[in-house]
Amino acid sequence: MKTIGLIGGMSWESSLEYYRIINEKVKKELGGLHSAQSLMYSVDFEQIKVLQHEGKWGELTEIMIDAAKRLEKGGAEIIVICTNTMHKMADDVQKNINLPLIHIADTTAQSIKTQKLKKIGLLGTKFTMEQDFYKKRLTEKHGLDVVIPNDEDRDIVHQIIYKELCLGSIKNESKKEYVRIINNLVKDGAEGIILGCTEIPLLINQNDVSVPIFDTTTLHAEGAVLEAIK
Ligand code: GLU
Repeated sequence: MKTIGLIGGMSWESSLEYYRIINEKVKKELGGLHSAQSLMYSVDFEQIKVLQHEGKWGELTEIMIDAAKRLEKGGAEIIVICTNTMHKMADDVQKNINLPLIHIADTTAQSIKTQKLKKIGLLGTKFTMEQDFYKKRLTEKHGLDVVIPNDEDRDIVHQIIYKELCLGSIKNESKKEYVRIINNLVKDGAEGIILGCTEIPLLINQNDVSVPIFDTTTLHAEGAVLEAIK
């Protein structure tokens, strides 16, 4: 089994999920007392959040590369960035290390394609919903059509992520807002919904939504395990 290197802390609420899911998946695949060989380098998310909102992506790229190199030095054989948003610098991280990075948009797109869906709604931070790094990978590499919420709803989705979910606060009224926004995406033709922020599965699950959901946290963590035990 290969050692999985996790860049975590963004937020730690979702990194906990990664840790649980990779271990459950190894147990499911290998049985017995098998558990994941892993390392986690966990950042201080306040610093990351401030730099993101100031648009200091260069500094953030340095922080991600540094984290990946620490994991590589520590013996990691696969790199996993435990957030969708910070895949903005995934290509730069990959160029600076000698081990494979498992891209969260790829593990998600594979699952969407397996279900033969084409038009997909994307929820995530504003960075993920509005910038090209994520959507472009889904459209150009995987041939999917991506729909996102309107301006006002993107803001609601974003604020709930940073002001509630990343702080471990799960509120019923926020769940209702997400369900309303998802239903609008379905009206716009979305055949499935990407929960494209690793904390959203703490708020929304398949029972809340009429179309298939794609939980990026689970798909990414399980994809890393399948690579590790290959
Ligand atoms: N975990 C979230 C994501 O998957 C947001 C936190 C971050 O900005 O990295 O995008």
